Amino acid sequence: MQYKRSSELFLEASQFIPGGVNSPVRAFKSVGGTPLFMKRAEGPYIWDEDGTKYVDYINSWGPAILGHTDPIVLDAIKQQADSGFSFGTPTELETTIAKLIVENVCNVDQIRMVSSGTEACMSAVRLARGYTGRDKIIKFEGCYHGHSDSFLIKAGSGAATFGNPNSPGVTKGTAQDTLLSQYNDIDQVRSLFVEYPEQIAAVIIEPVAGNMGCVLPQNDFLKQLRSLCDEHGTLLIFDEVMTGFRLDFSGAQKVYEVAADLVTYGKVIGGGLPVGAFAGRAPIMDALAPKGAVYQAGTLSGNPLAMRAGLTTLQLILSDPLFYSALARTTQVLDETVSSLLNEKGIQHTVNRQGSMMSVFFGVDQVENFYQATLANHQMFNKFFHHLLSKGIYLPPSGYETWFISRAIGEEELDKTYNAVRSFEP
Ligand SMILES: *Cc1c(COP(=O)(O)O)cnc(C)c1O
Repeated sequence: MQYKRSSELFLEASQFIPGGVNSPVRAFKSVGGTPLFMKRAEGPYIWDEDGTKYVDYINSWGPAILGHTDPIVLDAIKQQADSGFSFGTPTELETTIAKLIVENVCNVDQIRMVSSGTEACMSAVRLARGYTGRDKIIKFEGCYHGHSDSFLIKAGSGAATFGNPNSPGVTKGTAQDTLLSQYNDIDQVRSLFVEYPEQIAAVIIEPVAGNMGCVLPQNDFLKQLRSLCDEHGTLLIFDEVMTGFRLDFSGAQKVYEVAADLVTYGKVIGGGLPVGAFAGRAPIMDALAPKGAVYQAGTLSGNPLAMRAGLTTLQLILSDPLFYSALARTTQVLDETVSSLLNEKGIQHTVNRQGSMMSVFFGVDQVENFYQATLANHQMFNKFFHHLLSKGIYLPPSGYETWFISRAIGEEELDKTYNAVRSFEP
């Protein structure tokens, strides 16, 4: 039996770890079956405990943009470990990575490191509230900004997949301060500003959404948000935990030519180690402790091992002027080929794609917001997922997630993927 050892390990894990996993979307609950327990990854491949090799389109949910276990990053981590892996003091390394980011990312004067994307978004919203003296925020249905209380209102990712986007444990008071709009609906945002004058501290958005499947901002949605925020003295927060250093080194800010007031990072920034960050212009960042009054801290923030992995990953990206165009090209070819194979089979679908992010939605022709994402044929996605898995292709285990294409994916892996799609029977 395939997945034999994974099944046994999952059974055992479920005894000691809630639901058998340390993050819900790993559990395969939406696609069904047993989550694969992985033991090794290298380049475009990941190996499960039964020894089966898969082409990896999850890539640790984004961080492994260079492919897994890049030898240069690996070497840098080993060398850093030899000098110590946690000091709880400032290190030169933290300034080196901060400087590299500030000098190469638009609209960012200062950056503060944390240990996850959740922390980054939670802290950015607190800073926006402290800076503006206002309580409310606007978020978009289907967007995911980590699991901090304010964001678990109509949230994406696992929360969408498992049908509990409004989590128990979030107080009414907190929920009241999170206002909701449909993605790509500027009129709805405008009416929230009218309804809550001078009360909205920030609008937080995934500038390309990746947690309801991949959903792109339409027309001038982001630019219109920018104008509304300016008009109302509200900060615009781009959650670039997924898009940062992935769509471009400057992320969606650069791709869509819209300047955010605060930007959050995660995933790629740590090169596979736990790192998040939030950044912005100096007058806003100055409000943070110890300089300002808005408190934020972290025992392992700026951890040397994590900083070394992140710094080396970012340096490798910067050293290749064709990095992003090559990734985008691979993803475009993947999109177009998978699409034409599905068309040959008469399977209705649509693909959303930007840079090295893409999602296939079955049974629909257009997905521009969360509601439309729910109308897709998720049962067919689940079947597609399991078929590809059985052919050695590892997709995210939910139709509400984005596929991440890494630099390591080449002709051979693409061909293997096309062959798997070719034999798909809906
Ligand atoms: C993954 C993600 C987060 C949360 O990051 P964690 O490191 O999992 O806490 C926040 N926002 C977006 C857009 C994400 O994709």
